[in-house]
Amino acid sequence: MTDPISRKLFQRAQELIPGGVNSPVRAFRSVGGEPVFISRAEGAYLFGADGAKYTDYVGSWGPMILGHAHPDVIKAVTSAAANGTSYGAPTELEVRFAEKVVELYPSIEMMRAVSSGTEATMAAIRAARGATGRDVVVKFEGCYHGHADFLLVKAGSGAATLGVPDSAGVPASAAGNTTTIAYNDIPALRELFSARGHRIAAVIVEPVVGNMGCVPPVPGFLEEIISLCQKHGAISIFDEVMTGCRVARGGMQERSGLKPDMTCLGKIIGGGMPLAAYGGKRAIMQNVAPLGPVYQAGTLSGNPVAVSAGLATLERLDAALYEKLERLSARLEQGLRTALERTKTPGCVQRVGAMLTMFFNEGPVRSWSDAQKSDTARFGRWHRGMIARGQYFPPSQYEAAFMSAAHTEADIDTTVSAAEEALREASA
Ligand code: PMP
Repeated sequence: MTDPISRKLFQRAQELIPGGVNSPVRAFRSVGGEPVFISRAEGAYLFGADGAKYTDYVGSWGPMILGHAHPDVIKAVTSAAANGTSYGAPTELEVRFAEKVVELYPSIEMMRAVSSGTEATMAAIRAARGATGRDVVVKFEGCYHGHADFLLVKAGSGAATLGVPDSAGVPASAAGNTTTIAYNDIPALRELFSARGHRIAAVIVEPVVGNMGCVPPVPGFLEEIISLCQKHGAISIFDEVMTGCRVARGGMQERSGLKPDMTCLGKIIGGGMPLAAYGGKRAIMQNVAPLGPVYQAGTLSGNPVAVSAGLATLERLDAALYEKLERLSARLEQGLRTALERTKTPGCVQRVGAMLTMFFNEGPVRSWSDAQKSDTARFGRWHRGMIARGQYFPPSQYEAAFMSAAHTEADIDTTVSAAEEALREASA
């Protein structure tokens, strides 16, 4: 049961906004609850409309790696805003931002700033199609790459949570050039390339999936994507909107030592502001307007306030921060696993760096069909129990929880005891 203030706000919201929310998973539908309306956030905590405090493991769905309202980020944003919120003209900030991104992601030789992850993946694929002169895009079942028409095919995240992986309103012609296969299925990938390799423009992949819950790649999977793309003249795209600066400062490409042709970034690089980017090999990016014939643009692209938040965040990502995140995340992982064991709940905890999911399914979860074996009703009961105990986890089995550097060991220990109690309640 949510607080009476959130309840009232939700009623008003539902009159005017579909489902009362501006992005579907926020509605708490799949967990059978109602959303908590948030009035402010600080460090590892969210505060509800009634002032109640929640320890936050959503982190605005990924960006808030430094914790909420980090003083350096707030200072950067307020001083940028005082100089004007948008010019629609180039700035030094954008150049510094691009230099920083390229430093962290050496596979990116040129990049464009955009305003959302959706724009980043959409534009990356347009650039890949433009560069190859081919149409077919390969994606993996349960991966989510934003809501462009041709990517809402067997999509994860809210689309999967709400049972609409193939959205209505997408013409067959828009989805017709999208081919999907199971995540981590190396033989299927080889087969697809041997049958249709000459028509494939790009393979887009979440190098660690967050959007069906946290699912790591099996050894060899990402390597195979890159080598098949190379062999067949297709373009490999790592969608690191979620994993970028999350599983390591340089994302999964740093962790794996792999170099995709193109990369999409978002979330953390924008420090909680609407900012994302796509980039990659110079030869591909030189096709983008005004240098080449692939058109892509944005009124607010490279917005100075957003770029300031992004830069302030990126400048604070050092080795000590990732060591701390690893220590805290391992503590949460182990704590949740013990809670599952002690309550005899069938489940497993999957984690890569500071992203993690507790699946209500014995696992291991390697694909969307594995993820779907989860007991989502029990997950919903658990989630409601956690909210009642001030613990704010993603309101879907098919999402990853995120750790921030503002969490403390004491926060995690409190969360773990709450998780055990909520698991006991959920199995009753
Ligand atoms: N790609 C991935 C891997 C994502 O996780 C998301 C959003 N969760 C997107 C793309 C889309 O980003 P946005 O919501 O900023 O459009």
